[in-house]
Amino acid sequence: MPCTIVNIGIAAVLAVAAVVIAGTGIGILFFLVALAIIYLHGYLVPGTPTLTKRYLPASVLGLFGKESVTERRARSIDANATIEEQLVAIGVFTVKDNPALTDSFANAWKVANERFRFEDVDESALRTLFGTDDVSRHAATGAVVDGNQSIRWISESALVADVTASRLLAERGSGWETVEPNERIALLRGLRLFLRVCPACDGAVDVTERTADPCCERPHTLIEVTCSDCGTPLADDAVVGIDADASGRVRAIRR
Ligand SMILES: [Zn+2]
Repeated sequence: MPCTIVNIGIAAVLAVAAVVIAGTGIGILFFLVALAIIYLHGYLVPGTPTLTKRYLPASVLGLFGKESVTERRARSIDANATIEEQLVAIGVFTVKDNPALTDSFANAWKVANERFRFEDVDESALRTLFGTDDVSRHAATGAVVDGNQSIRWISESALVADVTASRLLAERGSGWETVEPNERIALLRGLRLFLRVCPACDGAVDVTERTADPCCERPHTLIEVTCSDCGTPLADDAVVGIDADASGRVRAIRR
């Protein structure tokens, strides 16, 4: 947003110059083309996303839901902490009232999913997701990492959500590149339990929890996250025990 405003300002100044030099028609045409480029590309002058992040004061960036580069770098992922603590540490999770995605991450994730929705998740996307070249895709919702670690997603949309979340986490400079593939998947699964909207259709997300008490095992709480519009399963988990005070998905990220 700050980048877009700066670029529209630049386009307006250049358009006025074009009016003076080449006439009103050319000036208006220039301005319309510039707006189209900003709309499609996000900016007119290359480098402004970085420049606005670097030079606009933190208080101004805060108005747009952005943080300064140094604030981001201060955070890092501690593999010994719980999933919740790690997600809070890297600024994508808040525990103000209840654990939830921060607004800025939820919005960025929604936009990224809308853009990626119609793209194919190829092996290059999987390599970026896991941070290793040793990844092969198996069917639509499976992958083998480092030759021995088999990973299955509950749906293609769940896989897309992990690909986009991984990209966003890498952009945040939170040490994501140092996180091992199995830890990445654990964090991404934790995130997906708290999706606000469906990555496939932007529909509302339903979280259902039920208890299962199978013989010879301790009772479990089963968590299922699905889209209430298109019915796509988005995440699931199971935690041991039943707790009236904390929901299953909260206990899942506090293990
Ligand atoms: Zn949906």
